[in-house]
Amino acid sequence: MTAPVPPPVLIAGGGPVGMTCALALAQHGVRSVLFERNPDTTRHPKMDITNGRSQELFRRLGLAEKLRDVAVPRDHVLDVAWVTNMAGYELHRFRYPSPDDQRAAFAAANDGRQPLEPAMRVSQVVIEPVLKTAVLANPLIEAHWGVAVEGVAQDADGVTLTVRDRGSDQVRQVRGRYLVGCDGGSSAVRRALDIGVEGKHAVSNRFMIHFRSQARNVLQRFGIAWHYQSPMGTLIAQDDDEIYTLHARFPEGMDTSNVDPLPTLFAALGTEIEAEILVANPWTPHLLVADRYQQGRVFLAGDAAHQYIPTGGYGMNTGIGDAIDIAWKLAAVCQGWGGSQMLASYEAERRPIGLINRDWSERHTGVRIYIAEAYAKWLNTENYDASRANLAAFIANAGNLENEASGIEFAYRYDASPLVAPILGQFETAPPPPNDPATIPTTAWTGMRAPHLFDNTGTAIFDRLATNGLTLLRFNGQGDPAPMLEEAARHNIPLHLVEIASDQARQVYGTDLALVRPDQHLAWRGNAAKIEALHIACGHLPGAPTL
Ligand SMILES: Cc1cc2nc3c(=O)[nH]c(=O)nc-3n(C[C@H](O)[C@H](O)[C@H](O)COP(=O)(O)OP(=O)(O)OC[C@H]3O[C@@H](n4cnc5c(N)ncnc54)[C@H](O)[C@@H]3O)c2cc1C
Repeated sequence: MTAPVPPPVLIAGGGPVGMTCALALAQHGVRSVLFERNPDTTRHPKMDITNGRSQELFRRLGLAEKLRDVAVPRDHVLDVAWVTNMAGYELHRFRYPSPDDQRAAFAAANDGRQPLEPAMRVSQVVIEPVLKTAVLANPLIEAHWGVAVEGVAQDADGVTLTVRDRGSDQVRQVRGRYLVGCDGGSSAVRRALDIGVEGKHAVSNRFMIHFRSQARNVLQRFGIAWHYQSPMGTLIAQDDDEIYTLHARFPEGMDTSNVDPLPTLFAALGTEIEAEILVANPWTPHLLVADRYQQGRVFLAGDAAHQYIPTGGYGMNTGIGDAIDIAWKLAAVCQGWGGSQMLASYEAERRPIGLINRDWSERHTGVRIYIAEAYAKWLNTENYDASRANLAAFIANAGNLENEASGIEFAYRYDASPLVAPILGQFETAPPPPNDPATIPTTAWTGMRAPHLFDNTGTAIFDRLATNGLTLLRFNGQGDPAPMLEEAARHNIPLHLVEIASDQARQVYGTDLALVRPDQHLAWRGNAAKIEALHIACGHLPGAPTL
């Protein structure tokens, strides 16, 4: 009798990142086995913004619209308002159009500087069941809820997990070729590998009150907004109907274990309302990044690899980028077309982004604190109207980059990756685009997300990319793709030619040919096919012999 073939990939953790990793592997045709210790998806609202970049990636998985169906309606704005409190005054409102209006504006511009997908207001409580339904329906994913990972061992051929069924208490061992640890901030996988974290622990003292209420006269008194900010904390409208979350701030060091939710809520609102508390607990944000994202056959992704203050919404969104990155690379290696640098490129690409996003989440929080501290300085009861106006001007001037940072969300680059750096050195002749946190650059750049444009038929280039393998774009029938296609065929590299008719796209990409990876990042661009670039993009060392 032959031994059963181990699944290619094991996944620890069935949060948004673990489930996305499993779905992305399946899209590439790779089997995975996922273990989630809880019997079902989260009750904690946590994430409340899925940014446009994550939506672009979910669209690739066929999930973007399914997720929007459970999110805040597509025609609701994403405004952020600073208030004295909900019974007092709105001081300043940062206005952000609804997804419907944003989508129309993106299409009208079609200049390569727009996202394909707008951001989406949605809580983690409602996003996870949609992902879980997709996971359970996928024949390439074997998923176990209520099973905790308790041990990790690896050898030259694979990884052995020790898992415990929390219902029956049975412990068993499971073997796979690779493991992705998506098991959150307290990651058992990270601890088992003894991987440290760098950064700041416990950077503030928060208390979450998640509640249901019909008191629209208070909660929507200033109209619809996504966030209502005040020095008391952030009030999040989760569905613009009856579900809200208050994240109250408390002084550092104060014991919040016995905080009474209702009085805290009333104090923040400035009035009492009828409310049903759904979940309430203290929590502590961290600013941490794992020292390593890979050890041998094991990889860390999502909160297992980085933990942020939620300001800016980088936690899950960065994790979705991790999941998509590692999934296509594991697929390439399992399918035999990924070279020796393929898996090492995961940490080289994603850890720098983890560090950058951690630092931005701290900077954005700094702006909120700066504004909150200004309340005490500016507002005075003797001259309340004038001091309110002054404070409003101060807030407007401080700005709200945290919700305007398309450069951070879309234009991150993989310059140091072994899949990118040699190509940049040899084939990129243009200067690198500016690093502006608020804009997507006008030009393409190897290692950065490929520009999104619609072609002459009105179809998004991203929708025409192959779902498995690499895509070679040819603009307006120019450039000869044959040398790269033939080389790919010789080496069993899944490379798909896609013809794009669009002067605008040709101009933004800047070349006749462009090689695009499964994660929509640009692997190479040029006017004449370069076989060497194809091999480097597949993870081979420059000049190395390929099989
Ligand atoms: C208040 C708040 C607001 C936030 N807002 C945003 C936002 O707007 N946008 C954003 O992008 N992010 C936001 N975040 C961060 C976001 O919630 C996390 O980054 C996200 O949950 C990370 O997903 P994950 O799958 O990596 O980890 P998790 O969601 O933590 O999932 C890990 C999973 O692994 C499971 N697990 C743990 N240990 C084991 C084990 N030993 N065996 C098996 N399973 C295990 C857990 O049960 C869990 O289901 C926010 C967080 C908070 C707290």
